[in-house]
Amino acid sequence: MPLDLNTDIKFVNGVGPRKATLLNSDFKIFTVEDFIKHYPYRYIDRSKFYQISELNGNMPYVQIKGKIVNFEKQKTKSKNILTAKFIDATGSLDLVWFKGEKWILENTRVGVEYIVFGKPNVFNNRLTISHPEIEEIEKHDSGLNASLQGQYNTSEKMKDSFLHSKAIQKIQQFVLKELYGKIPETLPQYMIEKLGLMPINETFLNIHFPKNADLLAKAQSRIKFEELFFIQLNILKQKYSLNLNSKGFILKKGNDNYTAKLFNQIPFNLTGAQIRVLQEIRKDVTSGKQMNRLLQGDVGSGKTLVALLSMLMAIDNGFQACIMAPTEILAQQHLITMTEAAKGLGLNIKLLTGSTKKSERTIIHNELLSGELQILIGTHALIEDIVVFKNLGFVVIDEQHRFGVAQRARLWKKNILPPHMLVMTATPIPRTLAMTVYGDLEVSVIDELPPGRKPVKTLHFFDSSRLKVHGFMRKQIEEGRQIYIVYPLIMESETLDYKYLDEGLEAITQAFPAPKYVTTVVHGRMKPKEKEYGMRLFVNGNAHIMVATTVIEVGVNVPNASVMIIESAERFGLSQLHQLRGRVGRGADQSYCILMSGNKLSDDAKKRLETMVSTSDGFEIAEIDMHLRGPGDIEGTQQSGVPFELKLADLVRDTKLLQYTRDIAEKILNHDPDLSKPNNLLLIKQLTKIANAKENWGKIS
Ligand code: ADP
Ligand code: MG
Repeated sequence: MPLDLNTDIKFVNGVGPRKATLLNSDFKIFTVEDFIKHYPYRYIDRSKFYQISELNGNMPYVQIKGKIVNFEKQKTKSKNILTAKFIDATGSLDLVWFKGEKWILENTRVGVEYIVFGKPNVFNNRLTISHPEIEEIEKHDSGLNASLQGQYNTSEKMKDSFLHSKAIQKIQQFVLKELYGKIPETLPQYMIEKLGLMPINETFLNIHFPKNADLLAKAQSRIKFEELFFIQLNILKQKYSLNLNSKGFILKKGNDNYTAKLFNQIPFNLTGAQIRVLQEIRKDVTSGKQMNRLLQGDVGSGKTLVALLSMLMAIDNGFQACIMAPTEILAQQHLITMTEAAKGLGLNIKLLTGSTKKSERTIIHNELLSGELQILIGTHALIEDIVVFKNLGFVVIDEQHRFGVAQRARLWKKNILPPHMLVMTATPIPRTLAMTVYGDLEVSVIDELPPGRKPVKTLHFFDSSRLKVHGFMRKQIEEGRQIYIVYPLIMESETLDYKYLDEGLEAITQAFPAPKYVTTVVHGRMKPKEKEYGMRLFVNGNAHIMVATTVIEVGVNVPNASVMIIESAERFGLSQLHQLRGRVGRGADQSYCILMSGNKLSDDAKKRLETMVSTSDGFEIAEIDMHLRGPGDIEGTQQSGVPFELKLADLVRDTKLLQYTRDIAEKILNHDPDLSKPNNLLLIKQLTKIANAKENWGKIS
């Protein structure tokens, strides 16, 4: 049976059912196609032969030619060791095996010329290569004449079953000899020609058996291009069809009753960025299409006001609006801020959360149905089925990464037409990632802080300097400032973490005794009532210090709080540290963020703390975060449905290529929005294939 891409891997020569099972389980390789997409992770130049006299223990893998002079067997308690003395014209070294001696002795002979490949080491002053690859010069087949030889990832189990890198290479060689010239092209001919891409058959050949570095680079860039291009094409095509199909309410300009009134009573000027974003939103909501927009802006950049003004555009046109927040505290904060900002406008604004009383709930449900209630602020409680609006025109979702796409969709269902959606996040997402993850959203950015803000001074102290920090806190309190102290809380060790918080609280109340100092506590295990009480005390200026877990992360806005102390700062992620720091620096006074840590820091932790000290630019921090953690771990990407199993492309490193593929995808869709032209047939075929694969994976996992 001739091979094709869909052939089950177990039917390939040299594989068989047992090895196939390992390939299935360890690398998700099921078909020949999966197998040839198992690319080498690095390449070794096998065109070069070293002389033994040139070798030292620091060299990577090398290749030498020579003969075995003798074998020597050694028995220790635990192992049999086989050593062969190997010589060339310049010297000698030892080849060593710790297992498989029988096979070696049967298949290797003294006096025959061999090519030996392996990593030189020095052991007891003697140059050795353990478990070398060894091949008779006579039978040496330089792998489709490749000079660069691929090294393949394997697992321990695979190595035990003789599926080591070399064996995989042999199978690749066999498969590619069979398939060469028959692998169907995945990109239209016009793209290959115009973009100067390597054709697919050449690509697979050269990624596994590159004849030279230049051809390898061309093969790699074709594969990377394709990986990123189809992601972009997929997202953009969805976006195009959404734009084409999704009608939205028209929020006409001119009916600007509330909007104008609010504008007139704002006690400051909007920043240029706020105005620009409002214009972008205005353009969307008057277009007749439904808006789906992501608003990114650092903490304190004034997103809330933008949200309120946008919601008023809907209210001015007779619609209702809602804003959904990830926590009760944040929802409450929004209620306070918005009620305050809209004072005197006569708007009906209410709060719905898990702890809203039944009687209040009933009122809210009724007022929503009648249309009396204009703005509803809340948490997840908003998406319960019982919550039905008369005519919901505008939805704001704050801190989107905590809400799944599915939850967003549930809000749409309650309407004849989907409401306009503004998704806000203070977690700046690197541009490349935003392009990939939120590709179906338009992106607006507030990249300017309101004037007069003093950047927060960030300092890092080791735990041993605690007394100094206490002194600094006293001085700040004397000057009338308030202070946050935040403790980490990580799920696995919740009990332990609360202990830290309790101990910390004890130490603080000792160093800052009542009644002179008032300390309040807020953490996730408190009853909502207690939590609110603790919070209020601080918000109203009646407590000097708030000891808390990260529940305050996105919650509070206390302009008088000017010091944020983060305990065990090394245990927080960068974006979380940045968020926490954003809680201070909201008033006119100089604010401080103090990062406390132990003395022993991992390299990553060190980098995180250094980054915090050196910059307050959220986008820069997000970039560094992505470099440290990899794109798959950045908040918001998990629910995105973007396949992050990119094999060669890298969303961190290949930024330029990503932009390039996006531009190409855009150009193609501009000419052919549904890809129905004959020369784009291959593209549709490929997208369908990707969609099916994703669906199957969804079913499996
Ligand atoms: P975000 O939600 O982006 O973190 P907020 O909307 O809470 O930021 O704004 C932070 C603070 O800045 C609020 O007290 C708000 O009233 C104030 N603010 C917003 N826009 C401006 C502006 N243009 N000029 C001065 N202060 C502003
Ligand atoms: Mg906010």
